[in-house]
Amino acid sequence: MITAIRPVPAAVTVRVPAKVNLQLAVGSVRDDGYHPLVTVFHAVSLSDEVTVRPAPRMALTVTGEDADAVPTDRSNLAWRAAIALAKAAGVRGADAAVRIEIRKRIPVAAGLAGGSGDGAATLVACNELWQAGLSQRDLAEVAAALGSDVPFSLMGGTAVGRGRGEQLTPALVAGSYHWALAFGRAGLPTTQVYATFDRLRATRTAAGATQSAEPSLSTELMTALRSGDPERVGPLLMNDLQPAALSMEPDLRRTLTAGREHGALGAIVSGSGPTCAFLATDAAHARELAVLLTGAGVCRAAVRASGPVPGATVVRDGGRS
Ligand code: ATP
Repeated sequence: MITAIRPVPAAVTVRVPAKVNLQLAVGSVRDDGYHPLVTVFHAVSLSDEVTVRPAPRMALTVTGEDADAVPTDRSNLAWRAAIALAKAAGVRGADAAVRIEIRKRIPVAAGLAGGSGDGAATLVACNELWQAGLSQRDLAEVAAALGSDVPFSLMGGTAVGRGRGEQLTPALVAGSYHWALAFGRAGLPTTQVYATFDRLRATRTAAGATQSAEPSLSTELMTALRSGDPERVGPLLMNDLQPAALSMEPDLRRTLTAGREHGALGAIVSGSGPTCAFLATDAAHARELAVLLTGAGVCRAAVRASGPVPGATVVRDGGRS
């Protein structure tokens, strides 16, 4: 048998999508501090790109959207991902040093899983650069240890996430969905949004409201997604974190209202916010919504996107040596 020897790439570039949560059901906080989740992740065409190349020592640069707000040291999820992959693949010493270049289009602390995406992209890029040969399943295991949203950034498409969001099942979805994404003026730290969620829930419980500690999947939403009809999907979008995000950023109400007034079929805060996601009837409507929302001054900027799209994918594998 002849085994092909693959030349070692000098650099690998991976594109990774942002996500929106079509449903985010959050249960009561557990003793270990985590909230049990049932969520429907949906990968959209707004993406970051990560390039890795061999280097004398670890280094990381960030350019593009919100670059100043991203750490460039070992606290960056991409840096941590490179170290975790080297360990899992048995790559040691100088061989494990890489220069990581992140080109951001996904805003930071926006509820779009940008950091998790960069982590997932780095796993795929280093796996290719080092020709480590880890399977998708191996990568998913390393990803889950890095963060709850990292496995979905690897997988992409549309998927149901349980546990902390890392236990994934791909979802059957027909057609494409077109979105306008309105970015907030400042980021919302995920931990603070969950803390507000806990306070609001405690207040409601004290007032006598009955609330299920266990989140559950919306079967109506899953059926609507299989129909491929955005008119059916729009009203079923839901996010348990939305009241917390709105109480921290009351201006987001204006953003959501503006989108609905311009014909959005569904309007929702994405994940922990502050990005608002608006489901449009088609690509032209998504573009129109993005222009109108930007013009109305109810967000920092708005862009259009579509989904589902694939997870972290090699786009350039250049300069082979
Ligand atoms: P999620 O939706 O997964 O809760 P998010 O989209 O709200 O996350 P991120 O953009 O991932 O938020 O950023 C959260 C924090 O993570 C940032 O404030 C930043 O300090 C840190 N961080 C670490 N690595 C990165 C990275 N590669 N890109 C962006 N932020 C990063």
